Amino acid sequence: MIKLRWSTFVVKDLVRYDLSQDRIPEFWYNILPDLPESLPEPKDATGKSFETLKIVLPTKVLEYEFSQERFIKIPEELLERYLQVGRPTPIIRAKRLEEKFDNVLKIYMKMESYTYTGSHKINSALAHVYYAKNDNAKFVSTETGAGQWGSAVSLASALFKMKAYVFMVRTSYYAKPYRKYLMMMYGANVNPSPSELTDFGRELLLKDPNHPGSLGIAISEAVKYAMDNGGKYVVGSVVNSDIMFKTIAGMEAKLQMEEIGEDPDYIIGVVGGGSNYAALAYPFLGEELRKGKVRRKYIASGSTEVPKMTKGIYKYDFPDTAMILPQLKMYTIGSDFIPPPIYAGGLRYHAVAPTLSLLMNKGIVEARDYSQEETFKWAKMFAETEGYIPAPETAHALPILGEIAENAKRNKEKKTVLISFSGHGLLDLGNYADVLGFDKK
Ligand SMILES: *Cc1c(COP(=O)(O)O)cnc(C)c1O
Repeated sequence: MIKLRWSTFVVKDLVRYDLSQDRIPEFWYNILPDLPESLPEPKDATGKSFETLKIVLPTKVLEYEFSQERFIKIPEELLERYLQVGRPTPIIRAKRLEEKFDNVLKIYMKMESYTYTGSHKINSALAHVYYAKNDNAKFVSTETGAGQWGSAVSLASALFKMKAYVFMVRTSYYAKPYRKYLMMMYGANVNPSPSELTDFGRELLLKDPNHPGSLGIAISEAVKYAMDNGGKYVVGSVVNSDIMFKTIAGMEAKLQMEEIGEDPDYIIGVVGGGSNYAALAYPFLGEELRKGKVRRKYIASGSTEVPKMTKGIYKYDFPDTAMILPQLKMYTIGSDFIPPPIYAGGLRYHAVAPTLSLLMNKGIVEARDYSQEETFKWAKMFAETEGYIPAPETAHALPILGEIAENAKRNKEKKTVLISFSGHGLLDLGNYADVLGFDKK
């Protein structure tokens, strides 16, 4: 309830809950010490990957990868940037959607779409770039598929006055120009990968000048370019440090839910590599793990077209196709899996973050996969109902709501759900138009 300052008007039915800037959390949360058992160690299958990591990763990023410290203080310069790009993000209650479900659910959405580049990815991009700068790196390099990660790194680089080299999968570079333009607006050096900048890229182009590229090739190029030219490589998801940096969202959400006076029964979200979901869920789950009892239900979903969540196998696999990085134990459909061209670019990754995989294996986090066709219908319904366009990735969490609502109705219960609203879909309207059959003439 809010009473307006300049009148007697009282807004009773609040749907938006802000956290004031002076209450932004000062700590990231690291789940490693609270896991039910210790995380399987990375394996150096080629004998070269650990050496490579020592050279190309910022020192602090590598250190945090194995840290057993539970709460890690966020440097002041980073907090200042977090505030600038839109943190703390609001939690919005999906009241109109609740009505659709006959009011058996209370739905709270943590709106990571409210940041400058429209997703949660900036939460870790800022940290990686900051630590690269602290190491006096000449530049940062990274890969990007559809461009969400690349644009977050480009934004972070602009705010820390770093040069960014982005290797963008060649097909996306030509087919999805808007996030490329976004990166260019931020002053990044964007290259279609395979590129002319590395030996590896030049070799591939020599064989096939129209090589479509892949995320694996782009990772290899980004790592090699950093290694040979005094830069640092920025990792986008999956790894422990990246998830920890992104927990700023979950730390905020915890304060917000306490302030609202609600304790979610369910925490749900989507999984590309696992970072946005883990970042929201872990501060809540960690507390339950420390108490030794997990009451809440944790459900995460991916896409049927890249079915690592429900059809993946829990084993050691390479995080990258080029096999440069150490092997990690995770749910995977194979690093050589060639994903169909689905529009939720952020969900095309072949494996699930090691910490999240461990929790899935223990039955603490449940998994689902939904098809693009089903998901896009939910996205349209959501837009019509709530007035907000979800990213195609984010829309993959909506069918979980349907399932929870049905269960609640059947059992005559009321449930509270917190959802990681990872991003908006305003740069994905062309994809929605394709699948939903809008007139494109
Ligand atoms: C990248 C992305 C994802 C998936 O990545 P995670 O590492 O699993 O968070 C989900 N939603 C949006 C909007 C994205 O940009």
